[in-house]
Amino acid sequence: MNDVEPKTDEESPYECFKCGTIVVAETHPMTCPDCNASMRNRRTPLE
Ligand SMILES: [Zn+2]
Repeated sequence: MNDVEPKTDEESPYECFKCGTIVVAETHPMTCPDCNASMRNRRTPLE
């Protein structure tokens, strides 16, 4: 069996800081489609 290598360009979930809307996309959406607030990558831990 072959191991599946993680892809860096796969879709990732992004979460709105303000309303919590989740958007799954390959590229980072700059603003929330619902409220235009900033989005963050849920896979990136916050400091
Ligand atoms: Zn929002």
